[in-house]
Amino acid sequence: MPVPPRAALGRDDQLDRLPASVDVLIIGGGITGVGVALDAASRDATVALVERDDLASGTSSRSSRLVHGGARYLATGDVAMVAEGVRERDRLRRMAPHLVLPLPFVIPSDSVADLALLRAGMTIYDALAAGRGVATHRRLDAAEVLAAAPGLATGFRRGGVRYWDCRTDDARLTLEVARAAAAEGAVLATHTEVTELRRAGGRVVGAELRDRIDGSVRSIAARWTVSASGVWAGDVRRLEDPHDLDLEVLPARGVHLVFARSELPVNSAIVLPSVSGDDRRLFAIPWGEQVYVGTTDDLHDVDLDHPSVVPTDAAYVLAATNAAFGTALTAEDAVGAWAGLRPLLAATGGAATADLSRRHTIVEGPDGLVTITGGKLTTFRRMAADVVDRLAAREGWPARSTTARTMLGSSGPVGEGRAHLRAAASRDPRTRAVPRVWLDGLHHRHGDRAAEVLAACADRGELEPLVSGLPYLRGEVRWAARHELVGRLDDLLQRRLRVSTRHRAAGGAEPIGWAADVLADELGWAPERREQEVARYLDAVRHERGPVPLTT
Ligand code: FAD
Repeated sequence: MPVPPRAALGRDDQLDRLPASVDVLIIGGGITGVGVALDAASRDATVALVERDDLASGTSSRSSRLVHGGARYLATGDVAMVAEGVRERDRLRRMAPHLVLPLPFVIPSDSVADLALLRAGMTIYDALAAGRGVATHRRLDAAEVLAAAPGLATGFRRGGVRYWDCRTDDARLTLEVARAAAAEGAVLATHTEVTELRRAGGRVVGAELRDRIDGSVRSIAARWTVSASGVWAGDVRRLEDPHDLDLEVLPARGVHLVFARSELPVNSAIVLPSVSGDDRRLFAIPWGEQVYVGTTDDLHDVDLDHPSVVPTDAAYVLAATNAAFGTALTAEDAVGAWAGLRPLLAATGGAATADLSRRHTIVEGPDGLVTITGGKLTTFRRMAADVVDRLAAREGWPARSTTARTMLGSSGPVGEGRAHLRAAASRDPRTRAVPRVWLDGLHHRHGDRAAEVLAACADRGELEPLVSGLPYLRGEVRWAARHELVGRLDDLLQRRLRVSTRHRAAGGAEPIGWAADVLADELGWAPERREQEVARYLDAVRHERGPVPLTT
């Protein structure tokens, strides 16, 4: 399968190309929306996607970043849902091998009965992935558990189970899918909000749009309008019918705290038991020189537009971490944190969030607005295909989705991609000395484009790290402005490069200022706008971190 062309993806260019009329208008540029854009465009529909903030600025940059079947749902007996997750996980590994990477998970346990139960579940999990080249689970002895997590407290080290799932960078996965959609002809307008739906003859026939950066308004006509607006699905649905109460999306907040890996030495993802007596588990996931731990699952104190780590969330994560690792970490020890809202579908009144449906739903309103919500990052492709299948049946578009064969920015196995980049770097005297770990990071972020990104960094003499200790190169800032739909400083530092959550000072004054200067140059910001962007970024990080301090 060919890799999408390396077209520049600049915001202004996309806005200029926004048509007056399309077959499908998609509201929301999270993973679900970009998935629908890719699927519809690849069936030859004309497509526009509008996102009121940045791509992935909602839940799709705030997940646990796992591409997984969700082994724990086997306990609820929902084998079909787990099977779908496993199938999509293995597809995504093939479609984006640079971004969806196998990760071993270790579940430590000191109880013989628990281990037997775990192994029974894992045997089913293995069976669901049979024949797709995924290593099966294995029982670990005490020494092997200790090798996976040298810092584990003694009670957790007697033995365990290891199984495999995948990790990703959720925001960059969203970007890759968006890029593939653009390569199929979809136009992506970010920082563009749907403020009203247009109607004619009792049907939704498009939307009124407002540019949230310059305030300009415009209108777009559409045969179909699809809302992929995550936890805001109810709000968008009420633009169609202000009295609608049918679509109940309950936003459940999940938080993650990020620590230096030296504080929590782990060599695999570690599954930590809950400390509140329920069967929820947390993950400690290695992430370069950092480790992140999460997640919680809470319906209280939810702020839809500005989710934030609340002190009880932080306390819960810290208690589970400290119990498992025998540490005494506090919120002050974390280098960063994030909070995301899960678009859960209310299944039964008063159910605990862990019991609410993780499935997706498609609802067609009386005037034709199609809403898709729920689901998981992992299953976005299937969700998108389900929506477009419905439209295709009415429009006579090809009946079958072909997106399972789309390559998302990488043309071959990850090892080949890394080797190709190292070879390219060693041929160029300017890049010969770039450390291997930085090259690998470039490959994981940019896939087949990494050599081009590296050369662009070298051309400008911007090969050093943007932030000391983090693997992002200075030259990636300009690259992101030109090729990755960046419209604001936080698009860059929160999502294209994950600086905001990996560094105590969210990057620090000098790198933040430097990045702001480059974006000002690229995007034509006046000095005042540049200052506002820096302040806005720091405010957003401070708010989201809650009790985790931002040291400036
Ligand atoms: P979103 O990403 O929220 O996108 C909706 C978009 O709509 C937003 O960007 C918003 O700005 C936009 N929008 C809203 N209103 C308008 C409007 N009027 N005009 C224009 N745009 C609008 N899944 C996994 O598979 N693996 C995991 O490890 C995992 N971990 C998770 C951990 C947490 C803490 C949470 C909260 C979720 C997790 N999930 C995981 C689930 C997964 O992240 C979500 O299901 C998925 O990201 C939802 O994507 P979405 O596109 O539907 O919503």
